[in-house]
Amino acid sequence: MNPVRQTIHFDKNLIDKDALKVVNTIAKAGFEVYLVGGCIRDLLLGYKPKDFDIATSATPEQVTKIFKRSRIIGRRFRLVHIMFSARKYIEVATFRAGKVQTSGNGVIIRDNYYGTLYEDVFRRDFSVNGLYYDITKSEVIDYVGGLEDLKSSVIKMIGNPTERFEEDPVRMIRAIRFKVKLNASLSPEISKSISKQAHLLANIPPARLYEEIIKLFHNEKSIEVYKGLLKFGLLKFLFSQTHESSFIDATLINTSKRIQSGNSVTPAFLFAVFLWAAQNKRYNELNKKNKSHIDLMIKASEEIIKRQTQQVMMPRWLSSRVKDIWMMQYQLENCNLKKAKELINNPRFRMAYDFLVLRSQSIDPDLKEKAEFWTTLQK
Ligand code: ATP
Ligand code: MG
Repeated sequence: MNPVRQTIHFDKNLIDKDALKVVNTIAKAGFEVYLVGGCIRDLLLGYKPKDFDIATSATPEQVTKIFKRSRIIGRRFRLVHIMFSARKYIEVATFRAGKVQTSGNGVIIRDNYYGTLYEDVFRRDFSVNGLYYDITKSEVIDYVGGLEDLKSSVIKMIGNPTERFEEDPVRMIRAIRFKVKLNASLSPEISKSISKQAHLLANIPPARLYEEIIKLFHNEKSIEVYKGLLKFGLLKFLFSQTHESSFIDATLINTSKRIQSGNSVTPAFLFAVFLWAAQNKRYNELNKKNKSHIDLMIKASEEIIKRQTQQVMMPRWLSSRVKDIWMMQYQLENCNLKKAKELINNPRFRMAYDFLVLRSQSIDPDLKEKAEFWTTLQK
């Protein structure tokens, strides 16, 4: 099969210098090598890509021989990370072959067969993510109609959606994410399959979903992603204890404003908001006899967090921050001026205060005065 080849000269300033270095070095060593996936999609749309993925005919061992500061990572997919600083690396993947080893229910368990560029394309998820770029020729290589689908803004699966979702259910949440990110539509086949297969997400390890959750909600369009997940019945497989609420809406709108203006965001805030109603409900159910408010709050919080981590992993720092935000609500609602001045200096104050303000603007309008008190006190 011959691909569509299109010469395009991308603005070199938009391409990461280190990624360019890696591609050129691998090419010089005599291997086939391309920029691939999200970065090409984003460059074609005129966005600045977040990260640059590289695909090559060199095996992970061959890549590590070329680059001193590199290491092989991953078990399901072996990849090479080439380190440029303590926090920055470029990821290089060897072309994957068509066959995958799946368990009884169709989920990929091992996937380390190396292949050619042509085979690699068909292992990718959506046509818009299946574009390769040959830097030396300034050429986009398209085997799957991705260029056209980008133009007409449609997310199409490479292959049969039902099978590809079975192979890797995380692709369902990726479909929603890219639909929103690219302001595109989903192909009717994808929409139909997601509605039928949403439940397969229950089989995904919580650690993998944690990474995905961050990508889903730490962007300017998180509210649309959230609505999409609800609409397709996916949210309950990520947050079974979460139901629609104006508090969540207000928070996601706020998150996108923060991102737009370059403020920091933390997943702790997100989890605290998503689980707040469940935490409150559990608190109210608990037997109050002989127990202090604090003890009950801790018990309810721990139960809710434990249940959540059966679906999505929460690192310890994250769950402890979520608890801090919750515990501080009571203090913010009930404290005298002397205590208040202390509280302001607590390192968690800011998050807890933001949480209170958003509550007052959505589910708890009676807290408006309290929220204003804290706003004034900080001035
Ligand atoms: P972004 O970086 O904006 O989140 P991306 O498309 O680069 O989007 P990555 O998760 O960085 O997403 O993946 C890079 C590429 O790897 C994708 O473009 C796609 O070709 C391929 N890919 C990633 N995850 C999967 C998957 N679950 N199934 C098949 N292909 C995938
Ligand atoms: Mg990427």
